[in-house]
Amino acid sequence: MTKNVLVSGGAGYIGSHVTVELIQAGYNVIVADNLSNCDMTCFEGVKAITGKKDIPFIKIDCCDRDAVFRLFDEYRIDAVIHFAAFKAVGESVAEPIKYYRNNLDSFLNILEAGKNHGGCNILFSSSATVYGETDKLPVTEDSPRQSATSPYGNTKQICEDILRDVVSAAKSYGESMFPGTRKNGPVKGIALRYFNPIGAHPSALIGELPRGVPNNLVPYITQTAIGKRECLSIFGNDYPTPDGTCLRDYIDIVDLAKAHVAAVSRMLDGKMKKDYEIFNIGTGRPVSVYELVTAFEKVNGIKLNYKFAERRAGDVTAIWADPSLANRELKWAAERSIEDTLAAAWAWEKHLAE
Ligand code: UDP
Repeated sequence: MTKNVLVSGGAGYIGSHVTVELIQAGYNVIVADNLSNCDMTCFEGVKAITGKKDIPFIKIDCCDRDAVFRLFDEYRIDAVIHFAAFKAVGESVAEPIKYYRNNLDSFLNILEAGKNHGGCNILFSSSATVYGETDKLPVTEDSPRQSATSPYGNTKQICEDILRDVVSAAKSYGESMFPGTRKNGPVKGIALRYFNPIGAHPSALIGELPRGVPNNLVPYITQTAIGKRECLSIFGNDYPTPDGTCLRDYIDIVDLAKAHVAAVSRMLDGKMKKDYEIFNIGTGRPVSVYELVTAFEKVNGIKLNYKFAERRAGDVTAIWADPSLANRELKWAAERSIEDTLAAAWAWEKHLAE
C-alpha cells in the first residue's frame, strides 16, 4: 500500500521542495499549512512540477490541537515531516513567547496526535544552529550542542529533546502505566540538522519567498541582482578565515529535499538502527560569503553591487558539516554544484519578476 506522508508547513520553502521529491518517489503527500509565512505560489508550483493536481491541502494551524487530531482521524498517516514553525532569528529575540508557543505547541500536537493514533514516524527539521560556535570543524552529530543564542535556536534544541523523550517513552511504556493516560503507540524519530539551504528547483517554479527584507544571504543576493535591493552588505571581512568572511556549508534545496525522502524511507522500511536518530545534512564543503558572492557573479554573468560592512551580531565564524553518517546510513550525498545552485536561485528570482 502506498504510504501517506503528512508534510506540516508543506507550502513553504523547504516543505514544497520536499513534497515534490516525495511525490516523485511514489509517496502520497498530505500538505498542511496555515499560510502564515507563505502563500499558495509554491503549492501551485508543486502541482505543476509533479503533474499531480489532487494533492490534499489542509489549511490548519498545527497549534490547534483539535484540528490536528481531526486530521489524523481523517487520514492514515504513516509518517510526518514537521516543518511548521517560525524561523526568523531576530524576530524570535524580540518575540520569544510567540516563538516558544508556536514552535513547541505545534510540534507537541503532532507528536500527541501521532502517538494517540496508534503510533507514528516523525521527521523533525532541526538545524546546525544547535552546534553554535565551535573550534572542532567539521561538526559531527556527536559534537556537543552549545547553549542557543536565540529563542528560535532554543526551540530547535527543545524540539529535538522532546522527540527523543517521546520516542523513549513510547518504547518503555507500550501499555500506559499511568491511569488516565492513553496507550502509547510506537513512535520513531529522526532529526535532520540542516546547514544552509539555498537555491531553488531547477524548473524555477518553486523557491524561497522571503517576506520583507531578506535575512539570509542568497535571497539578499538575488534581490540585489534584480534591483529590489540597492546593495548587499557582506557582514564582516575581518574574521579569522582565509578571506576574512564567514564560512558556511551551503546545501542545495533539492539535495536537501532528497535527504528527507531517504530518511522517511529508512523509517518506513524499518531500517533505523535506533528509534531516535540524528543526521547532519550538509555538503562537508566550507564556502566563504565572498566566494559565494563571486561564484554567483561568475555563473550568472552579473556584477553585483556589494560592500563590506560590520559583523552581524550572533554570527559564528565558521561552521560546516561532517555528512559522513548521512552518506553512509541514508545512502545520500549532496550532488549539485554550488554553480548550479546559484544559477537556479537566480532563475527563480527572475521567474518572480515575470
Ligand atoms: N550574510 C551577509 N549579508 C547578508 C546576509 C547574510 O554577509 O545580507 C552572511 C552572514 O553574516 C553569514 C552568511 O552570510 O556569514 C550566512 O548567513 P545566513 O543568514 O544566510 O545564514 P546563517 O548561517 O546565519 O543561518
